Amino acid sequence: MDATKRAVVFLDRDGTLNEEVGYIGDLDNLVLIEGAGEAVARLNRADVAAILTTNQTGAARGYYPEEHILALNRRLVELLACKGAHLDAVYYCPHLPEAQVAEYALACQCRKPLPGMVLEAFSDHPELDRSRAYVVGDKATDVELAQNCSAKGVLVTTGYGEDVLSGRYQWSVKPDFTASDIAEAVDWILGDLGLAVRSPVGEGFS
Ligand SMILES: [Mg+2]
Ligand SMILES: [Zn+2]
Repeated sequence: MDATKRAVVFLDRDGTLNEEVGYIGDLDNLVLIEGAGEAVARLNRADVAAILTTNQTGAARGYYPEEHILALNRRLVELLACKGAHLDAVYYCPHLPEAQVAEYALACQCRKPLPGMVLEAFSDHPELDRSRAYVVGDKATDVELAQNCSAKGVLVTTGYGEDVLSGRYQWSVKPDFTASDIAEAVDWILGDLGLAVRSPVGEGFS
């Protein structure tokens, strides 16, 4: 660890920060999961970087233009701001090897579980501590992203997480921690970093 650098949490979007509702055509349908804004705000206050890393194939599938992905991410940032929270950076992968829309049809290095977005973030933000990195998400691919960049992986059971755990969706993975939601994930991460806020012990006896 490097105490002069910042620990970092790479956050998935759909099913982790906002409710999983499939491809979101209408901005109003992007809604924060209960407690998600407050959880990101706690990372902010602990000076732990919060960076969005999200696969977004809606444009590749021809559902909407890429500009709509940017608009959805802006709405997410606005909703987080209402809770006093911010993201330190936003990365998305719009690619899909089997895409209908030719410009996105490529086998890139940024589609999770490949580590391209995380590597780009480390390159763009040299203040990040690679040895204190976490990935939080609701899919096996999020946990595998963690493994592919030597981060600790937290599976949340919101979104697809419950189905990943039960074997109904994707494949079985071994996260470092399984959390009921992003709030519990942040609790565990702050504890793991030794940054958990403890109530004063032994006050008055010193
Ligand atoms: Mg997700
Ligand atoms: Zn990509």
